[in-house]
Amino acid sequence: MQYARPAELKDALNLLAKGDWDILAGGTDFYPALGENKPKNHILDITAIDSLRGVTEKVDHWRMGALTTWTDITKLALPTCFDALKQAAVEVGSKQIQNQATIAGNLCNASPAADGVPALLILDAEIELSGASGTRRMPLFEFIAGNRQTALANDELLTAIIIPRMSATGVSSFHKLGSRRYLVISIVMSAVRLLKGPLGEVMTASVSVGACSAVAQRIPLLEQALIAQPFDQALANLVNADQFAHLTPIDDIRAPASYRNWAMQESVRRAIHSSVEAA
Ligand SMILES: Cc1cc2nc3c(=O)[nH]c(=O)nc-3n(C[C@H](O)[C@H](O)[C@H](O)COP(=O)(O)OP(=O)(O)OC[C@H]3O[C@@H](n4cnc5c(N)ncnc54)[C@H](O)[C@@H]3O)c2cc1C
Repeated sequence: MQYARPAELKDALNLLAKGDWDILAGGTDFYPALGENKPKNHILDITAIDSLRGVTEKVDHWRMGALTTWTDITKLALPTCFDALKQAAVEVGSKQIQNQATIAGNLCNASPAADGVPALLILDAEIELSGASGTRRMPLFEFIAGNRQTALANDELLTAIIIPRMSATGVSSFHKLGSRRYLVISIVMSAVRLLKGPLGEVMTASVSVGACSAVAQRIPLLEQALIAQPFDQALANLVNADQFAHLTPIDDIRAPASYRNWAMQESVRRAIHSSVEAA
């Protein structure tokens, strides 16, 4: 088994093109998944590639480098539409985990309970994938194909998360429900982004729910119901069970499906309430 820690992206992509490598970023999902087993493939540690770290503002989008940690996100000065992502960041594990763990690792691990996913779905996030032969982009909702399944090819790295400028508007909030207050995997989490129009109406509404389906989902029927309504706390009253019919919550060790069905509606009401309050 080989271990490589290149400092340049092109060197990492060249290695990926030639052999079977497992990508290692913060390692907070990688090592627990190994358990007592030895790695089957070579290990490509990408943490020395400085060009993959940090958030930059471009003309028509925001670019979040794959190695940006949850702690980095909490410290950055970002527009209020990113508040849900910042609130998710402080809910990921503990401070030690947040210092080490990366945003791309959270997406590539593709857990149904990944806290970063709902907060990025409401921003219409796109994923940049790079290989030795080039770069491609796809929406986040296409990138995560199922529980622990992504569209990443063996010779590719997730290099950045792209937030289109048109979606980087309004205020946002994240709500997480776990069986205790801290260091807990979500039973349900939700994210809401609302943009207030000139007449005091809701101009844009994005809502997503995680841990209630194999992949976190947007809630389009609720989004439509919110549009053009007065921008006030009564918005939370528009949440109803029918809007969540496409979700498929499971019974597991954390909660029964019946509880998740109720809790996801309440979680979204609370996220709407916090967004209105923040505005
Ligand atoms: C104690 C503990 C508590 C946790 N609590 C939470 C929580 O509350 N909420 C939550 O959402 N998560 C939680 N996690 C999970 C984990 O911390 C996050 O998912 C984290 O963001 C993973 O990032 P990482 O950099 O450590 O990924 P790694 O472990 O390095 O990698 C995870 C997976 O992604 C792949 N990968 C990583 N980066 C790339 C890339 N750039 N391109 C392609 N593939 C890549 C790796 O090959 C691996 O398969 C917790 C983990 C622990 C150990």
